[in-house]
Amino acid sequence: MPIGFLAGQYALELLEIDKEMNHQTYAFSEMSQKDSNGCFNDGIQASTGCTYGKGLMTLLGYGKLSMLLYRPGKDAVRVSLSNEFLDALLVKGAEFFQQRKAGKEPSDIPGRVVDQLLSDWLLKLEYKEMFRHEIIQGFHFKPVRQSGVRKKCSECSEYVYEPDLKVSNDKLICKPDYYGIPRNSV
Ligand SMILES: [Zn+2]
Repeated sequence: MPIGFLAGQYALELLEIDKEMNHQTYAFSEMSQKDSNGCFNDGIQASTGCTYGKGLMTLLGYGKLSMLLYRPGKDAVRVSLSNEFLDALLVKGAEFFQQRKAGKEPSDIPGRVVDQLLSDWLLKLEYKEMFRHEIIQGFHFKPVRQSGVRKKCSECSEYVYEPDLKVSNDKLICKPDYYGIPRNSV
């Protein structure tokens, strides 16, 4: 998480922009949902303000600990962890990762072990010692148009955002009713 946070902060600095407070910046993590260390993505969202909920954060699914940050009207920047840093992380964080492997949740790992990794080493590094970066010109991205229109499902009469409604016999139906998805399954 701290590494994702710093990657996001570095990307903001490289684009010379502030943390997103509205809807004008897009972050892309190159990780996928299948990759462990998904807290990298939480860190990116926390520092850039590009959150999943607002549709400003996308997982590209490449399986890389890298991210892109894009503000329309500016260039995009790609920030990736350097191999040298990742290799050093395994050495410096050996005790932390060993405890994780043994099944300990991060918050159950003693503060001493975390401090040794974070305060004594990682947080003292310069961005350049952790990341590589590349400015990308002519970045193409079309954000998904979000709809604020809600209509009632003719079966359960709950309000549903228009793009997710299905049409059957001229009636608007929510997906759970249309597909018959039971409540106890998603
Ligand atoms: Zn319904």
